[in-house]
Amino acid sequence: MRYISTRGDQTERAFSEILLEGLAPDGGLYMPTHYPVVDKAALAKWRTLPYPELALEILCLYVDDIPRDDLSAIVRRTYAPDIFGSPEIVPLQRLDTGVSLLKLSNGPTLAFKDIAMQLLGNLFEYELQRRGEVLNILGATSGDTGSAAEYAMRGKQGIRVFMLSPHGRMSAFQQAQMFSLQDRNIHNIAIDGVFDDCQDIVKVMSNDLETKRSLKIGTVNSINWARILAQVVYYFWGYFQATRDNQERVSFAVPSGNFGNICAAHVARMMELPVEHLILATNENDVLHEFFSSGEYRVRKSHETFETSSPSMDISKASNFERFIFDALDRNATRTRHFFADELPKTGRFRLTPKEYARIRTFGFVSGKSTHADRLATIRDTWTRYSLMIDPHTADGLKVGRERSLTGVQTLALETALPAKFAATIREAINRDPDRPKSLAGLEDLPMRSVTMPARAEIVKQFLIDHCNDRAL
Ligand SMILES: *Cc1c(COP(=O)(O)O)cnc(C)c1O
Repeated sequence: MRYISTRGDQTERAFSEILLEGLAPDGGLYMPTHYPVVDKAALAKWRTLPYPELALEILCLYVDDIPRDDLSAIVRRTYAPDIFGSPEIVPLQRLDTGVSLLKLSNGPTLAFKDIAMQLLGNLFEYELQRRGEVLNILGATSGDTGSAAEYAMRGKQGIRVFMLSPHGRMSAFQQAQMFSLQDRNIHNIAIDGVFDDCQDIVKVMSNDLETKRSLKIGTVNSINWARILAQVVYYFWGYFQATRDNQERVSFAVPSGNFGNICAAHVARMMELPVEHLILATNENDVLHEFFSSGEYRVRKSHETFETSSPSMDISKASNFERFIFDALDRNATRTRHFFADELPKTGRFRLTPKEYARIRTFGFVSGKSTHADRLATIRDTWTRYSLMIDPHTADGLKVGRERSLTGVQTLALETALPAKFAATIREAINRDPDRPKSLAGLEDLPMRSVTMPARAEIVKQFLIDHCNDRAL
């Protein structure tokens, strides 16, 4: 398998070449040259595999420059019961005849991002060792992504993490999750400012190519192809858990922000997993619902982006969306480039032609929106009916999933975080504290490790320089 850019650069790259990269050199996203089709015989064979073996089969279709035995060791180490809490790794819980929850949030940071990030940590370590290189991961976080990255990279050879977060603005739980890590290769940097200040510093340093090269700066952002690939696995897995044979079709309901999770669902469908609908749920930040309802993609300005009670879906634009548009335009890179490199920067929007929009509708997507009131009602309803607590993001997916589900087709709603991370909203909905996994009792009382800095790139840069030669690795 080789990888090309969505914006026309036809240079074909191997998996290990794009693994540690962000954007393609022409500013596009990396895509596989084609999607391997999984025929009935392979589906039948895969149905009975344990999670790590299924992951190996799917990864092998997209990764041909890491020996199968090495890849096998990596997936076994990643998808282990002691990391994900059960031998299933991703359990399926039936709610009623038509609707199930696909439980993706039992990793170390209690959110589905662990599933991809834990694999990425092991793949990065492997590839860096193979090359004899080191990497300094620089990121900004307001919560979920930063902690998932730190738990994936802690103690890894050849990798240091420098994670910027807005000082005093994360929940006590989120902050404790990150700051309690004592690993020498993890650096928590609390910035006196808001999330955008943190992100600006990362941008300044990443756009300075000289600094980027000399300090060996890399990222783990959601546009990384390996993250999407890791997520493809649980769509197959969920399908096998929910169905008896490979004739049945199912729908997936996905609470969406940057379009990473549902992009993986799209890839699974392109591989001919029997999918009826991909049900995309947004919160009040409904850029994507608007697109699927109208054919117009209009990114939001920061003052138009709402802070909601499902904060991991508070996006102004969806960073993986270009991948889907590329496929939906029949891989026309000229047109994709026109939309994303010309129209969007110039006008903040683009609109498909009626013919293009008609074509989009053949990809199985339907969409809907969920608000704060919907979220509370869904959390309450799920608690009353099943004595089950769900988090606000999962509630958005479940609400829209129920709305758009078809009789006779099972809907698998993706659980993307555990309620323990969002105590305030749970209390508002059902007037009680969320359960917390035993291993995290007393988290906020652990010793914390972080440094605080003003929001200035040159100070952060100096900190990196000072710590880049740590012998901790
Ligand atoms: C990141 C995240 C999402 C959104 O996923 P995307 O891949 O960005 O669409 C939804 N829910 C939770 C809890 C998340 O952390």
